[in-house]
Amino acid sequence: MAEYKSPVRDMEFVLNELIHVESLTEIKKFEDATPDIISGVLEEAAKQIDGTIGVLNESGDAQGARLNDGEVTTPDGFKEAYAAYAESGWIGLDKDVEFDGQGLPHTLATAVTDMLSGANAAFSLYPGLSNGAYEALKAHGTQAQKDMYMSHLSLGDWSGTMCLTEPGAGSDLGQVRTKAVPQKDGSYLIEGSKIFITAGEHDLTDNILHLVLARTPGAPEGIRGISMFIAPKFMVNDDGSLSERNDIVCPSIEEKMGIHGSCTCVLNFNEARGYLVGELNKGIQNMFVMMNSARLMVGMQGLGVAERATQNAITYAKERKQGRPLTRKAESSFDSDTIIVHPDVRRMLLTMKSLTEGCRMMAYDTAKHVDLSENHADGALRAASKARVDLMTPICKGFITDVGVEVAGLGVQVYGGHGYIKENGMEQNLRDSKIFCIYEGTNGIQAMDLIGRKLSMNGGTLPKDFFADIKAEMESAGSEQSFITAPLTAALEALETATDWLIESKQQSPNHSAAAAADYLQVFGLVTLGYYWLRATKVATGKDGAFYQGKLATATFFATKLLPRVHGLVPVIMAGGDCVMNPEEDVIL
Ligand SMILES: Cc1cc2nc3c(=O)[nH]c(=O)nc-3n(C[C@H](O)[C@H](O)[C@H](O)COP(=O)(O)OP(=O)(O)OC[C@H]3O[C@@H](n4cnc5c(N)ncnc54)[C@H](O)[C@@H]3O)c2cc1C
Repeated sequence: MAEYKSPVRDMEFVLNELIHVESLTEIKKFEDATPDIISGVLEEAAKQIDGTIGVLNESGDAQGARLNDGEVTTPDGFKEAYAAYAESGWIGLDKDVEFDGQGLPHTLATAVTDMLSGANAAFSLYPGLSNGAYEALKAHGTQAQKDMYMSHLSLGDWSGTMCLTEPGAGSDLGQVRTKAVPQKDGSYLIEGSKIFITAGEHDLTDNILHLVLARTPGAPEGIRGISMFIAPKFMVNDDGSLSERNDIVCPSIEEKMGIHGSCTCVLNFNEARGYLVGELNKGIQNMFVMMNSARLMVGMQGLGVAERATQNAITYAKERKQGRPLTRKAESSFDSDTIIVHPDVRRMLLTMKSLTEGCRMMAYDTAKHVDLSENHADGALRAASKARVDLMTPICKGFITDVGVEVAGLGVQVYGGHGYIKENGMEQNLRDSKIFCIYEGTNGIQAMDLIGRKLSMNGGTLPKDFFADIKAEMESAGSEQSFITAPLTAALEALETATDWLIESKQQSPNHSAAAAADYLQVFGLVTLGYYWLRATKVATGKDGAFYQGKLATATFFATKLLPRVHGLVPVIMAGGDCVMNPEEDVIL
């Protein structure tokens, strides 16, 4: 059976030594977020998550969520574990104090999401979806809506959903057909069917708040005619008490490849009562508020599963005995050694470790920029941080979730046949991780967002400012770090060349850049990890102990064996899109 222990030491390294999260205490709202508080929160969260939620990962997968007469029952133990998790205040960790949150930095909540996803990815979706609903109401709700709903989302006694997808509307939300008809009392009657709705129906909370995309009569076609509504499972009286059930029915849930403990629901809205959130026909823009925070959260899901796979693979490789070291083949004094002696197994372990730890640095630093962009007193700094979050969101979602699948796959491989069978839990990681590349905008859509919007946003300054930061980091590096600055310089040059090419080729034909988008996102992600490994190297240089030596060894591996992947990908990017687009459809058999 697979084990998971929240990687508190590595989290503290990133938070305290790498991104200096304590600097957020200069923001009044976060003055309590001292290193002591941060460490206390991490330790407490790890104790509860590992002890009560992580232990349900495999049983939740085996049992899955079940549907009976329109009611969904979550796997055994989820209800009690969720109640304890909410009761301890983890859902409201970074929510506003005025709405019963704890008012701590989002950066810290990101570390807790990392833990929760590693412990039990399917479980993480129940509190996870509430975050997006909270953000959407905070940004676009009326004061009455905020007062009625937000504390419940923060306390976790109610949960949220995102109801976007329909049979004909997946990536293309302009195709949404669900209707919302205005009523005299200012409410709307919502009619239509949504599919694939995570946590659309379940037994964990007293109420569920559905954030629904729908069209009002006569609204413009396409995405400009979509509005956002809130439709509760149980109607809420003015005094906050629950009233009759809204007509929102779950006729079926999906059988799926992974995250079995998370229910994925069809939801029929049969003239269900709903209320407009934000302006009419601005639903897509409003939903983007939820989607950006949700995309960063999905990145954490990829990271969590990668961490789980890595921990188990390292333990297994130190226990499983097969074969002798190549350099000691001739000795007859022992039959076999642990598989960690084999270069190929080490290659896999170090690939897993360097990608996972690198993604953690990138994700937490992006989360810190979220905190700065929303709360810092200096407007210029807020704007610069917002730009960094905008740039990094598709990378955190797309690159980290691809890493999740790569690392989960390597985890199976390290175990050999023992990874392919169910018993050891490694195949579950692979099954669970694939969905992270698909929902909240597929990774193909993330890549298009990167090349389509983010490269040209704010006059094209987003990548330029980031590249300048990488160069500044290299300039202040010492000779001890040349093992990484030399390959990083070359990799950054390649990325800059590819970026210029993409911007130019878009003028000739959008198909050239679109055909290269996924590869470009990979190159961007690798160079970004190179930048963070350089920063980690600076922290670890000259420090004693296995932890810091491990950081230097892992950085060396990343710089030597993974960062050069960019030099294979950049020519592929610049080869253009003709070979992709020229074949007639009927020759792609
Ligand atoms: C387990 C699970 C949970 C989910 N949870 C939710 C939820 O809570 N709420 C919700 O609303 N939805 C949810 N979804 C739906 C999910 O967000 C969609 O499945 C996803 O957005 C992709 O839509 P689609 O499946 O229709 O694929 P399609 O949009 O049909 O895409 C198919 C392929 O075409 C590619 N593609 C499509 N358009 C483009 C384009 N313009 N450019 C380049 N490539 C393109 C995609 O990248 C993909 O590879 C969930 C889905 C699953 C499976």
